[in-house]
Amino acid sequence: MEESKIALVTGAGKGIGAAVAIELAECGFDIWLNYRSDHDSAGYVAEKIEKSGRTCIKLPFDVADADAVHHSLDPLLKKDTPFALINNAGVTRDTLLALMSEEEWQSVISVTLDGFYRITKPVVKNMLKKRKGRIVNIASTSGQSGVPGQVNYSAAKAGLIGATKSLAAEVARRNILVNAIAPGFIETGMTSAIPKDKVLPAIPMNRFGTPEEVAHIAAFLCSEKASYITGQVIAVNGGLYM
Ligand code: NAP
Repeated sequence: MEESKIALVTGAGKGIGAAVAIELAECGFDIWLNYRSDHDSAGYVAEKIEKSGRTCIKLPFDVADADAVHHSLDPLLKKDTPFALINNAGVTRDTLLALMSEEEWQSVISVTLDGFYRITKPVVKNMLKKRKGRIVNIASTSGQSGVPGQVNYSAAKAGLIGATKSLAAEVARRNILVNAIAPGFIETGMTSAIPKDKVLPAIPMNRFGTPEEVAHIAAFLCSEKASYITGQVIAVNGGLYM
């Protein structure tokens, strides 16, 4: 019998990460569910995963905190290797560059890029030994196109896209596929304060996307059907950026 596959999803207590974790569980993955601090929300996601018949290990830690990442992941990685890693944890601290504090710059860069490094390095070392794996990095339209007020976030997400392509080239021969998804405006807590009347005219489909519409692509990229796709950035943005 084939061993069950594990997916590690970061920032999965709510929003896009939660939808990805739930859909991957429905596809047969056991889930390692990372989030930062909202235990109630993560508990609700874990319940849904367990109801679909899969296991869920909750891993509350900050992906930017090296000690916390080691403390939580090292014991698990000694025993198991996730087939899929979804680097989804991300934050925004929007403001104009001329007004941006060092902390607003550092925190956004750190969660996205230090977080990517801290999680992906130990996981990919295991994947290299197994000679298989899928890594999906959740970037953003802001990493592809300029957005005023998001210099920190655009830099972080453009950096993540660069890291996706270089890592894809490094590990392709070991059958590890690395791709990015670039969502546009998706209905989550992150976008709840954005005035829709101001933004919708810029979106050809004239609506925000749902977390599930992003999750479908992540699940596809982690499926056998996506066996010849690597180093790509797949936009899920309703035509916002073409
Ligand atoms: P969200 O609703 O704000 O949820 C963020 C999730 O990430 C929460 O579970 C949060 O945990 C967790 N998280 C935040 N910082 C973390 C950290 N340092 N370590 C571990 N977990 C952390 O966000 P979302 O809209 O789903 O966004 C998910 C990803 O998609 C982000 O990378 C974001 O940049 C990207 N994205 C979103 C949109 C959009 O329109 N929503 C568009 C493009 C890209 P707690 O709840 O416990 O704090």
